[in-house]
Amino acid sequence: MSSEMPNASPENIFQLIFEKSPGSLLVKADLPKFTILAASDAYLKVTSTTRESVLGKGFSEVFPEDSTVFNVETNARNIFTKVIKTRLKVDVPNYRFDVYNPDKKICEIHYWSCSNTPILDDNNEVAYILNTVIDITEEVKAKEVAIESESRLRLAAEAAALGTWDLNLNDQTFICSPRFVEIFGHHPETVVKLADISQQVNADDLQNIVIKAYNEALITGKYLYEVRVYWPDGSLHWIKIQGIVLYDEEKKPITMLGTILDITESKRDEIRKNDFIAIASHELKTPLTSIKAYIQLLSRKLSSLDDSFINNALLKTSYQINKMSDLVYRFLDLSKIEADKLQLKIESFDINKLIYDVIAEADLVNPGNRILFAQQDVIVVHADKEKIEQVISNLLNNAIKYSDKGSIINVQSQKIDGNVHVTINDKGIGIKPKDQEKLFQRFYRVESEKMKNISGFGIGLYLASEIIQRHNGQIGVESKEEQGSTFYFSLPLTD
Ligand code: ADP
Repeated sequence: MSSEMPNASPENIFQLIFEKSPGSLLVKADLPKFTILAASDAYLKVTSTTRESVLGKGFSEVFPEDSTVFNVETNARNIFTKVIKTRLKVDVPNYRFDVYNPDKKICEIHYWSCSNTPILDDNNEVAYILNTVIDITEEVKAKEVAIESESRLRLAAEAAALGTWDLNLNDQTFICSPRFVEIFGHHPETVVKLADISQQVNADDLQNIVIKAYNEALITGKYLYEVRVYWPDGSLHWIKIQGIVLYDEEKKPITMLGTILDITESKRDEIRKNDFIAIASHELKTPLTSIKAYIQLLSRKLSSLDDSFINNALLKTSYQINKMSDLVYRFLDLSKIEADKLQLKIESFDINKLIYDVIAEADLVNPGNRILFAQQDVIVVHADKEKIEQVISNLLNNAIKYSDKGSIINVQSQKIDGNVHVTINDKGIGIKPKDQEKLFQRFYRVESEKMKNISGFGIGLYLASEIIQRHNGQIGVESKEEQGSTFYFSLPLTD
């Protein structure tokens, strides 16, 4: 065949189509010569040959096989022979054949995918073979880049001892990395099912944390929690699971994926620290109670002396001891909350009377602030009186601590929809929105110039929030920097 086309007969049209097709070569099935009968322009270009130099020649004569490029699978003669024997199409999905670039005068790496289709004669024997070659260099390179970045990611995850997981939300198919399996106490090559590893999670944590986090993640798109798991050998471990949800175009959640980390060591450290706080505050409590009692005795005995220095010194000592014992009790409560051992002693009491008493005490200790609270009707709540006193006292003392001496503090309580709402408003330094979100976290204190000289541990609001939550109530804050804050809490009025 040749590309000259004197007139447009159907044969010539087919010849033209063949010659313009991407990477096509037609060889005769005359084993072992495989005479080349036709070649497309693209094929000739890639192989740096001309139509005249290849037509009528044997395939191996024109393209001597290079053993470094072709193996038994990709060797053309072997493939042609296989096509003749089987009468079936034989594909070579990916092989390398470098091409000389005459412009750059260099040999460039290329990858190809080729198919070899038998063309049968009337006797059902293979008469010709159509060898079609497609340049897949770009795809191969893109895949190499993807594999490389994936393996880097995997290495980074391994370096951080992170396991990875992927949950298909349609059919619940679960895929995880060997490290994930290891974190659950299995050999990294073990195949685990989601149902099996779920059974390793502490039953309470599964119910209260995992399922809750899963449902929340479907709405928020984020997944983060810490739970206890039991290894097959019975030992207890802590894990942290983190992830995100992927959605389709219709915003339907389709996949949840993320990482897993073994945090047993840091949890043990935390538990040791909590134990230390619990023991230390417990040990401090006894001598403090005794000092407090002696100071009271001394005050009573020495008050008749009418010595203003002694009376003043005793008053100040008593104030400082109260402050100290307040702190010690807070640390005790903190350790109880951490160990989930905070017990509530529920009783019925008038919350307005309690507010009044707390204000009176605050006025005594911190004279000079104008705390306004219009005494109202009795509002009976069923709650732990001591703990609620602690909450009110903490909010009120913060209002005093974080505002100018003499400024007005407004306290209010009212019944709204079966709840009692208590608000404490100050005209103090206020709180930025970004800090407001975190105030109720353990040990959180705002970092600012103004805070430098105000002491504190950042546990008061955390305790207040835990106490109110344990009463099924709500706590929060509204604030504007430089203008003041309103802290509020509510408690249900039912039993
Ligand atoms: P502490 O006062 O001991 O630091 P808290 O848990 O009671 O701990 O309060 C946490 C943080 O919240 C404080 O450090 C302070 O930055 C901020 N804060 C609390 N109450 C107020 C308030 N009324 N006005 C401004 N900032 C406040």
